Amino acid sequence: PRVPEGDAAIRATDNDAALARLSAVRRGYLTDPFITPLVPRAHLEPSRPPLINIGTYVRSEALDELVNGWLALSAQEGAKCQIVSMGAGSDTRFWRIATGPSRDNLARYIEIDFPEITTKKAMAIRKSKDLSAVLGKPEDVSLANGGTALHSPVYHLLAADLRLPPAESLAPLLTTGPEPLLSPSLPTLLLFECVLVYMSPAASGSLLQWFTDYFSSQSSSPTSSPSVLGCIVYEMFALGDQFGKVMVNNLKARNVSLPGAEPYPTFESLPNRFLKHGWEVAKALTLKDIRREYISQAELERISQLEMLDEIEELELVLAHYAITWGVKLPSNADGLKAQWR
Ligand code: SAM
Repeated sequence: PRVPEGDAAIRATDNDAALARLSAVRRGYLTDPFITPLVPRAHLEPSRPPLINIGTYVRSEALDELVNGWLALSAQEGAKCQIVSMGAGSDTRFWRIATGPSRDNLARYIEIDFPEITTKKAMAIRKSKDLSAVLGKPEDVSLANGGTALHSPVYHLLAADLRLPPAESLAPLLTTGPEPLLSPSLPTLLLFECVLVYMSPAASGSLLQWFTDYFSSQSSSPTSSPSVLGCIVYEMFALGDQFGKVMVNNLKARNVSLPGAEPYPTFESLPNRFLKHGWEVAKALTLKDIRREYISQAELERISQLEMLDEIEELELVLAHYAITWGVKLPSNADGLKAQWR
């Protein structure tokens, strides 16, 4: 059932994510010149507590590493990559990629969110020289659908409720120009960053099935080259355990209605999201393990000097409830590729 007030609370989580990023940038954890123009009255916003800053840092670094690795791998295979970010909110990843070393490897970057969020983002982009300059010449950038969508040569912003059947919510991916906006023959990476918790497993399963089908049917066509489909999910999990319940109650206290997601996924169940659609690679890591095993000692020392954090135990407890899961689906004729994409 649709709960409009619940939806407003779900949309408000975008502001939380943007403020967390702004705070981590100001405190020196991350570098991101593009977040400020996306946050209204950014200069008035207070910093977040150290624990949130560190969490934001670990998540952001880990996702960047995976996304940049994906772009590099596609480039190695001689193809530009397209990225579709679901529930993208005020994310700045497109601007960071488009001004970074992998910019030539990016064919297309598509963001989808509720129309209320995309309208605000489109206006912020229009208002900011720093954001709009990256999109291309002004004459190549246009608003569409009553200002809820924006198109440019590489970057596209689309409005949809991702809980609706994909044939409806994802229709704009197929129909925006003479060629479908989403090319069926390019390596494609899907991002779900902190959004699946607001959707039922059935709804997110249908989205994955839609993309799986879209890329499978094309890879058998003799005219299109095989394309790899990847997906990265960042989410809370184990919300049924003692600390998980605290996290759920915090969301509920702010009127965020979570879909009846119980039983909540456990760490072991996370890769099943991809395996059950027949994908070949599926892995997961918690932020706790990423911080311990994948962030360099030099970086850990650097960030430990930014702010005092005495509650390492609490930090680890929180980070142990967030995971990054990623999966790869290879085209049927590409067995040789498998090792590389692991
Ligand atoms: N991905 C961004 C990030 O990590 O910074 C934003 C995360 S924010 C916590 C969740 C976003 O998902 C919000 O912008 C919200 O509007 C969007 N969202 C949640 N449910 C959605 C749905 N059913 N359809 C479209 N967008 C949705």
